[in-house]
Amino acid sequence: MGKAEIIDGRQLAAELTRKVRDEIASARKFHRLTPGLAVVLVGENEASKVYVRNKVQQCEAVGIKSFAHHLPADIRNDDLLTLIRGLNGDDRVNGILVQLPLPAQIDPAAVLATIDPDKDVDGFHVVNAGRLATGAPGALVPCTPYGCLLLIKSKQTALAGLKATIVGRSNIVGKPMAQLLLNENCTVTIAHSKTADLAAECRAADVLVAAVGKPRLVSGDWIKPGATVIDVGINRVPVPGGTTRLVGDVDFNSASAVAGAITPVPGGVGPMTVACLMRNTLIAACRQRHLEEPEL
Ligand code: NAD
Repeated sequence: MGKAEIIDGRQLAAELTRKVRDEIASARKFHRLTPGLAVVLVGENEASKVYVRNKVQQCEAVGIKSFAHHLPADIRNDDLLTLIRGLNGDDRVNGILVQLPLPAQIDPAAVLATIDPDKDVDGFHVVNAGRLATGAPGALVPCTPYGCLLLIKSKQTALAGLKATIVGRSNIVGKPMAQLLLNENCTVTIAHSKTADLAAECRAADVLVAAVGKPRLVSGDWIKPGATVIDVGINRVPVPGGTTRLVGDVDFNSASAVAGAITPVPGGVGPMTVACLMRNTLIAACRQRHLEEPEL
C-alpha cells in the first residue's frame, strides 16, 4: 500500500454540488432566478449519452432547469448552428453545452464559435480562452481543469512558487490547466508528445497533472517525493477474465508510494468535472442577470 493521501474527488464534488444547490435555492428565493442549461447531443455515441444523462441528472439535483436536445446523427451543420443561435437568444437558457465528439459532417470549431461566450459553460470558446489567458474579466473556465485546481488546492494551500508540470496540451485540459496554475503563481511546464525527457519534467514537479490518454504512462519513479499528483486520464483497459476496467494516465500503485497526495481513477477528477459544470451554469446565470456571483 502506498503512503500518499488520496484526494477524494467524489467527496469534494459532493461538497461543491451542495454549495451550488444552496446558492441556487437562495437565487430562486431572492431573485426569482432558476438557471437553465441546454445540453445538445448529436447522434448515438453511447459514452456521450451516458455523460449527457449524468449532466441532466445533476441539473435536477441542484435546481438547474435542463433543456435536452437530442439530434439525429445526420443533422446538417447549418441546422445545428441555427439551433445554437436560438439557444443564444433564449432567456431561459443561461448555459449551452454541445457534447463532443460530433459527427464528421459537423464543423466543431464553427459550433463552438457560434455559442454566445457568456453562455459557453464549457469554456471552450476562443473568447473565454482569451479571457483566461489575459486575466480579462468574465471568463468561463473549462470544467475539468477548474476541478483539478480545486482538487490541488484541497491539499496544497500555498501554490505560489511551486513547480507545476502538466502532461498534455489540449485546448480543453492541458492549456487551460497551465493558465490556471500560472494564475496561482506556479512555475509552469507544459509537456507533451514531443517533450525530450518527459520523466525529468515530471520529476521536477511539486504539482503534476497528467492529461494524456495513455494508460499508466506516469510511473512512480517519475514522481518527486511528496508531490501532488492529479490524474485526468480515463482509459479503459482489458483485465484477465475478458472484462475491462478504467485506469488513469498515472500508474496508481507505484505513484501512490511516492506522491504526497494523489487522485484515484475513477473517483478523482471525473466527479469534479460535472460539479464544475453546475458551478459554471450558476455563475453564467448570475452574470447575465447582473447579480453578484458566488465564490465557488
Ligand atoms: P487529447 O488527446 O486532446 O490530448 C492529449 C495530449 O497528450 C496531447 O497534447 C499530446 O501532446 C499529449 N500526449 C500524447 N501522447 C503523449 C506521450 N506519449 N507523452 C506525453 N504527452 C503525450 O486529450 P484530452 O482531451 O486532453 O484528454 C486527456 C485525457 O483526459 C483522456 O484520457 C481523456 O479521456 C481524459 N479526460 C478526462 C476528463 C474528466 O472529466 N476526468 C475530462 C477530459 C478529458
